[in-house]
Amino acid sequence: MPGVGQNLQDHYMVPFQWETDKGFADIPIPALFNPRANQDFLNAAVIFDRDTTMMKHTSFFNLSSQEQHWLSRANELNLEILAVNNWHPGVSPPATPKLFLGAVGLVPQSEGSVSLTSSDWHDAPSIQSNLLGDEHGLDLAFAISYTCRVLNLIEYTDAVSPHIVSPELRPKSDSEEDITASLGENVATLWHPARTTRMGPLDDESDRMVDPFFRVRRFENLRIADPGVVPVMPNCHPASVALLIGAWASERIITLKLEKGKQYYLQGSSFLCVHGFQDRSPNMVAGMTGQIELA
Ligand SMILES: Cc1cc2nc3c(=O)[nH]c(=O)nc-3n(C[C@H](O)[C@H](O)[C@H](O)COP(=O)(O)OP(=O)(O)OC[C@H]3O[C@@H](n4cnc5c(N)ncnc54)[C@H](O)[C@@H]3O)c2cc1C
Repeated sequence: MPGVGQNLQDHYMVPFQWETDKGFADIPIPALFNPRANQDFLNAAVIFDRDTTMMKHTSFFNLSSQEQHWLSRANELNLEILAVNNWHPGVSPPATPKLFLGAVGLVPQSEGSVSLTSSDWHDAPSIQSNLLGDEHGLDLAFAISYTCRVLNLIEYTDAVSPHIVSPELRPKSDSEEDITASLGENVATLWHPARTTRMGPLDDESDRMVDPFFRVRRFENLRIADPGVVPVMPNCHPASVALLIGAWASERIITLKLEKGKQYYLQGSSFLCVHGFQDRSPNMVAGMTGQIELA
Protein backbone atom coordinates (compact mmCIF):
# COMPACT_ATOMS: atom_id res chain seq x y z
CA MET A 1 0.00 0.00 0.00
CA PRO A 2 1.51 3.41 -0.95
CA GLY A 3 2.83 5.45 1.96
CA VAL A 4 3.16 2.70 4.57
CA GLY A 5 6.40 3.19 6.48
CA GLN A 6 7.36 6.29 4.46
CA ASN A 7 7.65 9.92 5.66
CA LEU A 8 9.24 8.90 8.99
CA GLN A 9 10.32 11.89 11.05
CA ASP A 10 11.87 12.06 14.49
CA HIS A 11 13.36 14.66 16.82
CA TYR A 12 17.15 14.43 16.68
CA MET A 13 19.45 14.95 19.64
CA VAL A 14 23.06 16.13 19.58
CA PRO A 15 24.72 14.92 22.80
CA PHE A 16 27.57 16.67 24.69
CA GLN A 17 29.30 15.79 27.93
CA TRP A 18 31.91 17.47 30.14
CA GLU A 19 33.61 16.55 33.38
CA THR A 20 33.04 19.45 35.76
CA ASP A 21 34.22 20.52 39.21
CA LYS A 22 31.92 20.45 42.24
CA GLY A 23 31.18 24.20 42.07
CA PHE A 24 29.49 23.67 38.74
CA ALA A 25 26.20 22.61 40.35
CA ASP A 26 25.61 26.23 41.47
CA ILE A 27 25.66 27.65 37.95
CA PRO A 28 22.26 28.56 36.43
CA ILE A 29 22.88 26.98 33.01
CA PRO A 30 19.27 27.36 31.76
CA ALA A 31 19.58 31.16 32.01
CA LEU A 32 22.49 31.07 29.55
CA PHE A 33 20.14 29.74 26.92
CA ASN A 34 17.06 31.66 27.89
CA PRO A 35 16.97 34.38 30.57
CA ARG A 36 13.36 33.46 31.36
CA ALA A 37 14.23 29.83 32.00
CA ASN A 38 13.80 28.14 35.35
CA GLN A 39 17.00 28.76 37.37
CA ASP A 40 16.81 25.49 39.29
CA PHE A 41 19.65 23.46 37.87
CA LEU A 42 20.35 21.12 40.76
CA ASN A 43 19.36 17.98 38.90
CA ALA A 44 18.07 18.62 35.44
CA ALA A 45 16.75 21.30 33.14
CA VAL A 46 14.60 21.21 30.04
CA ILE A 47 14.55 24.41 28.04
CA PHE A 48 12.39 24.94 24.98
CA ASP A 49 13.72 27.72 22.83
CA ARG A 50 13.43 29.42 19.48
CA ASP A 51 16.67 29.77 17.51
CA THR A 52 16.18 32.04 14.49
CA THR A 53 19.46 31.14 12.73
CA MET A 54 17.49 28.46 10.87
CA MET A 55 15.39 31.13 9.13
CA LYS A 56 18.53 32.91 7.86
CA HIS A 57 20.12 29.87 6.26
CA THR A 58 20.00 29.77 2.44
CA SER A 59 18.49 26.26 2.44
CA PHE A 60 15.52 27.55 4.44
CA PHE A 61 14.26 29.28 1.28
CA ASN A 62 14.17 25.93 -0.55
CA LEU A 63 11.40 24.71 1.73
CA SER A 64 7.78 24.95 0.65
CA SER A 65 6.17 28.33 1.36
CA GLN A 66 3.78 26.64 3.81
CA GLU A 67 6.69 25.16 5.78
CA GLN A 68 8.57 28.50 5.74
CA HIS A 69 5.47 30.25 7.01
CA TRP A 70 4.99 27.72 9.82
CA LEU A 71 8.63 27.78 10.93
CA SER A 72 8.70 31.61 10.83
CA ARG A 73 5.80 32.07 13.24
CA ALA A 74 7.02 34.00 16.27
CA ASN A 75 5.91 31.45 18.86
CA GLU A 76 7.11 28.34 17.06
CA LEU A 77 9.77 26.62 19.22
CA ASN A 78 12.44 24.73 17.32
CA LEU A 79 15.14 23.82 19.85
CA GLU A 80 15.16 22.00 23.17
CA ILE A 81 18.07 21.80 25.57
CA LEU A 82 18.14 18.90 28.01
CA ALA A 83 20.82 19.52 30.63
CA VAL A 84 21.51 17.00 33.36
CA ASN A 85 24.11 17.24 36.10
CA ASN A 86 25.97 14.14 37.24
CA TRP A 87 24.41 11.64 34.91
CA HIS A 88 25.41 9.62 31.91
CA PRO A 89 23.17 7.15 30.08
CA GLY A 90 23.81 3.65 31.37
CA VAL A 91 26.45 4.66 33.92
CA SER A 92 25.60 5.74 37.45
CA PRO A 93 26.77 7.30 39.56
CA PRO A 94 29.79 8.85 37.81
CA ALA A 95 33.07 8.97 39.75
CA THR A 96 33.48 12.68 38.92
CA PRO A 97 30.80 15.39 38.41
CA LYS A 98 29.52 15.60 34.87
CA LEU A 99 27.32 17.80 32.76
CA PHE A 100 25.35 15.93 30.11
CA LEU A 101 23.64 18.19 27.60
CA GLY A 102 21.43 17.16 24.71
CA ALA A 103 20.46 19.72 22.07
CA VAL A 104 17.30 18.57 20.32
CA GLY A 105 16.03 19.69 16.90
CA LEU A 106 12.24 19.93 17.16
CA VAL A 107 11.37 20.75 13.53
CA PRO A 108 13.17 18.07 11.49
CA GLN A 109 13.00 18.23 7.70
CA SER A 110 14.70 14.87 7.08
CA GLU A 111 12.51 11.89 6.30
CA GLY A 112 13.33 8.22 6.77
CA SER A 113 11.39 4.98 6.45
CA VAL A 114 10.42 1.75 8.15
CA SER A 115 10.03 -1.47 6.18
CA LEU A 116 9.52 -5.15 6.83
CA THR A 117 12.50 -7.42 6.33
CA SER A 118 10.46 -10.61 5.89
CA SER A 119 6.91 -11.92 6.09
CA ASP A 120 7.62 -13.23 9.62
CA TRP A 121 6.47 -10.60 12.15
CA HIS A 122 9.10 -11.86 14.64
CA ASP A 123 11.85 -10.37 12.44
CA ALA A 124 12.92 -6.83 13.30
CA PRO A 125 11.97 -4.22 10.69
CA SER A 126 14.53 -2.14 8.87
CA ILE A 127 14.44 1.45 10.21
CA GLN A 128 16.24 4.09 8.14
CA SER A 129 16.02 7.16 10.35
CA ASN A 130 18.01 9.39 7.96
CA LEU A 131 18.57 11.95 10.75
CA LEU A 132 20.12 15.21 9.44
CA GLY A 133 19.75 13.83 5.91
CA ASP A 134 17.23 16.19 4.28
CA GLU A 135 17.88 17.13 0.67
CA HIS A 136 18.21 20.86 1.41
CA GLY A 137 20.74 20.34 4.22
CA LEU A 138 18.70 22.44 6.63
CA ASP A 139 18.81 19.98 9.56
CA LEU A 140 22.59 19.67 9.30
CA ALA A 141 23.04 23.45 9.02
CA PHE A 142 20.81 24.00 12.05
CA ALA A 143 22.62 21.31 14.08
CA ILE A 144 26.02 22.85 13.23
CA SER A 145 24.75 26.28 14.22
CA TYR A 146 23.38 25.23 17.60
CA THR A 147 26.43 23.03 18.31
CA CYS A 148 28.50 26.24 18.03
CA ARG A 149 26.03 28.00 20.32
CA VAL A 150 26.22 25.24 22.97
CA LEU A 151 30.03 25.21 22.84
CA ASN A 152 30.13 29.00 23.19
CA LEU A 153 27.76 29.05 26.14
CA ILE A 154 29.43 26.21 28.05
CA GLU A 155 33.11 26.44 27.16
CA TYR A 156 33.68 30.12 26.39
CA THR A 157 31.48 31.88 28.95
CA ASP A 158 33.40 33.32 31.91
CA ALA A 159 30.91 32.13 34.53
CA VAL A 160 30.98 28.54 33.28
CA SER A 161 34.32 27.72 31.64
CA PRO A 162 36.45 27.70 34.85
CA HIS A 163 34.26 24.84 36.12
CA ILE A 164 34.83 22.63 33.07
CA VAL A 165 37.55 20.09 33.89
CA SER A 166 37.63 18.30 30.55
CA PRO A 167 35.40 17.72 27.54
CA GLU A 168 34.26 14.11 27.20
CA LEU A 169 31.83 14.26 24.28
CA ARG A 170 32.14 17.19 21.88
CA PRO A 171 33.54 17.70 18.36
CA LYS A 172 37.35 17.31 17.98
CA SER A 173 37.62 21.04 17.23
CA ASP A 174 35.25 23.95 16.51
CA SER A 175 35.82 23.73 12.74
CA GLU A 176 32.75 23.07 10.60
CA GLU A 177 34.43 19.95 9.26
CA ASP A 178 34.96 18.43 12.73
CA ILE A 179 31.48 19.43 13.91
CA THR A 180 29.95 17.75 10.84
CA ALA A 181 32.00 14.59 11.45
CA SER A 182 30.98 14.54 15.12
CA LEU A 183 27.30 15.01 14.22
CA GLY A 184 27.55 12.07 11.80
CA GLU A 185 28.86 9.85 14.62
CA ASN A 186 26.81 11.05 17.56
CA VAL A 187 23.42 12.39 16.44
CA ALA A 188 20.73 10.25 18.06
CA THR A 189 16.99 9.77 18.09
CA LEU A 190 14.96 11.17 20.98
CA TRP A 191 12.58 8.21 20.47
CA HIS A 192 9.76 10.30 18.99
CA PRO A 193 9.09 8.59 15.63
CA ALA A 194 5.96 9.73 13.77
CA ARG A 195 4.19 10.12 10.39
CA THR A 196 4.70 6.64 8.87
CA THR A 197 0.94 6.17 8.32
CA ARG A 198 -0.10 9.78 7.68
CA MET A 199 -3.70 10.93 7.80
CA GLY A 200 -5.25 12.83 4.89
CA PRO A 201 -8.65 14.22 3.81
CA LEU A 202 -11.50 11.80 3.05
CA ASP A 203 -11.11 12.06 -0.73
CA ASP A 204 -7.28 11.92 -0.73
CA GLU A 205 -6.14 8.98 -2.84
CA SER A 206 -2.40 9.70 -2.53
CA ASP A 207 -0.05 8.17 0.03
CA ARG A 208 -2.17 9.37 3.00
CA MET A 209 -3.17 5.92 4.14
CA VAL A 210 -5.49 6.87 7.04
CA ASP A 211 -8.69 8.91 6.67
CA PRO A 212 -9.95 11.46 9.24
CA PHE A 213 -11.86 8.69 11.01
CA PHE A 214 -8.56 6.82 11.55
CA ARG A 215 -9.70 4.14 9.05
CA VAL A 216 -7.03 2.52 6.92
CA ARG A 217 -8.05 3.08 3.31
CA ARG A 218 -9.16 0.06 1.34
CA PHE A 219 -9.46 -2.10 4.52
CA GLU A 220 -12.58 -2.98 6.48
CA ASN A 221 -12.52 -2.43 10.26
CA LEU A 222 -8.84 -1.57 10.49
CA ARG A 223 -7.85 1.64 12.27
CA ILE A 224 -4.57 3.26 13.31
CA ALA A 225 -4.50 5.53 16.35
CA ASP A 226 -0.91 6.39 17.23
CA PRO A 227 1.66 9.09 16.27
CA GLY A 228 2.08 7.42 12.89
CA VAL A 229 -1.04 9.32 11.72
CA VAL A 230 0.17 12.88 12.31
CA PRO A 231 0.49 14.72 8.97
CA VAL A 232 3.01 17.21 10.41
CA MET A 233 5.69 16.43 13.00
CA PRO A 234 4.74 18.06 16.34
CA ASN A 235 7.41 20.31 17.88
CA CYS A 236 6.73 18.98 21.39
CA HIS A 237 7.22 15.67 23.17
CA PRO A 238 4.68 13.33 21.58
CA ALA A 239 3.13 11.49 24.55
CA SER A 240 0.53 14.27 24.88
CA VAL A 241 -0.14 14.07 21.13
CA ALA A 242 -0.53 10.27 21.40
CA LEU A 243 -3.11 10.78 24.16
CA LEU A 244 -5.04 13.29 22.05
CA ILE A 245 -4.95 10.94 19.07
CA GLY A 246 -6.42 8.20 21.28
CA ALA A 247 -9.13 10.58 22.51
CA TRP A 248 -10.01 11.81 19.01
CA ALA A 249 -10.00 8.29 17.57
CA SER A 250 -12.37 6.97 20.24
CA GLU A 251 -14.60 10.01 19.80
CA ARG A 252 -14.79 9.54 16.04
CA ILE A 253 -15.39 5.80 16.31
CA ILE A 254 -18.23 6.50 18.74
CA THR A 255 -19.61 9.27 16.51
CA LEU A 256 -19.75 6.91 13.52
CA LYS A 257 -21.76 4.37 15.55
CA LEU A 258 -24.29 6.78 17.07
CA GLU A 259 -27.78 6.98 15.67
CA LYS A 260 -29.79 10.19 15.61
CA GLY A 261 -32.47 10.65 18.27
CA LYS A 262 -31.22 7.83 20.54
CA GLN A 263 -29.80 8.32 24.04
CA TYR A 264 -26.50 6.73 25.05
CA TYR A 265 -24.93 5.98 28.43
CA LEU A 266 -21.14 6.00 28.38
CA GLN A 267 -18.72 4.96 31.06
CA GLY A 268 -15.07 5.56 31.96
CA SER A 269 -12.69 6.95 29.40
CA SER A 270 -15.24 6.90 26.58
CA PHE A 271 -17.35 9.32 28.60
CA LEU A 272 -14.34 11.56 29.23
CA CYS A 273 -13.56 11.67 25.51
CA VAL A 274 -17.07 12.51 24.45
CA HIS A 275 -17.63 14.92 27.29
CA GLY A 276 -14.32 16.73 26.73
CA PHE A 277 -15.06 17.00 23.06
CA GLN A 278 -18.50 18.57 23.21
CA ASP A 279 -17.25 22.11 22.43
CA ARG A 280 -15.94 20.94 19.06
CA SER A 281 -19.00 18.80 18.29
CA PRO A 282 -21.95 21.19 18.63
CA ASN A 283 -24.44 18.55 17.53
CA MET A 284 -23.54 16.32 20.46
CA VAL A 285 -24.77 17.02 23.98
CA ALA A 286 -23.03 15.35 26.91
CA GLY A 287 -24.46 15.52 30.44
CA MET A 288 -22.51 15.27 33.69
CA THR A 289 -24.08 11.86 34.32
CA GLY A 290 -22.44 10.41 31.23
CA GLN A 291 -25.60 10.51 29.19
CA ILE A 292 -25.29 11.80 25.65
CA GLU A 293 -27.88 12.39 22.99
CA LEU A 294 -27.31 13.06 19.32
CA ALA A 295 -29.38 16.14 18.50
C1 LIG B 1 12.81 5.45 25.34
C2 LIG B 1 11.66 6.38 25.03
C3 LIG B 1 11.53 7.56 25.74
C4 LIG B 1 10.47 8.43 25.46
N1 LIG B 1 10.36 9.59 26.20
C5 LIG B 1 9.30 10.38 25.99
C6 LIG B 1 9.13 11.56 26.79
O1 LIG B 1 9.91 11.87 27.69
N2 LIG B 1 8.05 12.35 26.52
C7 LIG B 1 7.17 12.06 25.52
O2 LIG B 1 6.23 12.84 25.32
N3 LIG B 1 7.32 10.97 24.75
C8 LIG B 1 8.36 10.11 24.97
N4 LIG B 1 8.52 9.01 24.18
C9 LIG B 1 7.56 8.78 23.07
C10 LIG B 1 6.24 8.23 23.58
O3 LIG B 1 6.50 7.17 24.50
C11 LIG B 1 5.42 7.71 22.40
O4 LIG B 1 5.25 8.72 21.43
C12 LIG B 1 4.04 7.26 22.87
O5 LIG B 1 4.17 6.30 23.91
C13 LIG B 1 3.26 6.64 21.73
O6 LIG B 1 2.03 6.18 22.27
P1 LIG B 1 1.26 4.97 21.63
O7 LIG B 1 0.03 4.79 22.44
O8 LIG B 1 1.11 5.19 20.17
O9 LIG B 1 2.23 3.69 21.77
P2 LIG B 1 2.72 2.96 23.08
O10 LIG B 1 2.85 3.90 24.23
O11 LIG B 1 3.94 2.19 22.65
O12 LIG B 1 1.54 1.96 23.43
C14 LIG B 1 1.29 0.79 22.68
C15 LIG B 1 0.80 -0.26 23.66
O13 LIG B 1 0.29 -1.37 22.92
C16 LIG B 1 0.73 -2.55 23.56
N5 LIG B 1 0.71 -3.63 22.57
C17 LIG B 1 1.52 -3.82 21.52
N6 LIG B 1 1.16 -4.90 20.83
C18 LIG B 1 0.08 -5.41 21.42
C19 LIG B 1 -0.77 -6.54 21.16
N7 LIG B 1 -0.57 -7.35 20.13
N8 LIG B 1 -1.79 -6.75 22.00
C20 LIG B 1 -2.05 -5.92 23.05
N9 LIG B 1 -1.27 -4.86 23.35
C21 LIG B 1 -0.23 -4.60 22.54
C22 LIG B 1 2.11 -2.22 24.08
O14 LIG B 1 2.49 -3.09 25.12
C23 LIG B 1 1.91 -0.79 24.57
O15 LIG B 1 1.46 -0.73 25.90
C24 LIG B 1 9.54 8.11 24.45
C25 LIG B 1 9.68 6.91 23.74
C26 LIG B 1 10.71 6.04 24.04
C27 LIG B 1 10.80 4.75 23.28
